[in-house]
Amino acid sequence: KLGNETIKQELGRASWKLLHTMLARFPEKPTTDEREALKSYLYLFGRLYPCGECATHFRLLLQKYPPQTSSRDAASQWGCVVHNAVNERLRKPIFDCGTIADKYHCGCAEEDEKKKK
Ligand code: FAD
Repeated sequence: KLGNETIKQELGRASWKLLHTMLARFPEKPTTDEREALKSYLYLFGRLYPCGECATHFRLLLQKYPPQTSSRDAASQWGCVVHNAVNERLRKPIFDCGTIADKYHCGCAEEDEKKKK
């Protein structure tokens, strides 16, 4: 019944990392198609996330906080707010969303190009 907390936590850390990094690389000026893609991804994530209890809570959060897809900044802030809602429920520290822009990097070429400029 308890499952394995260590594995659930590892999955959570890996998933948040991917999610926040994806949002940090979302286009600053997304097309309608890109906005739709992100929205679909988030709802499908809520359906398919392998920890059932987590997925159920995440789907409730999607209702309370509809995904923000108008820009990279809006999407990143949305991700931070939703993660904080999970933190709150699990009694974990609340993250300062003002610092999120500097935290998540993809290690990809496009990002390095930007830094050089
Ligand atoms: P995590 O919460 O995994 O965070 C990892 C790192 O992200 C932190 O160390 C910090 O540097 C950074 N961070 C923290 N908050 C933010 C933020 N708001 N924005 C950006 N970065 C931040 N576990 C359960 O036991 N029950 C659940 O119902 C549950 N639901 C989940 C739902 C989803 C969608 C996901 C992805 C995970 C869920 N988890 C759940 C797992 C849980 O959220 C944690 O990932 C896990 O407990 C490990 O916690 P952690 O303390 O290592 O930090």
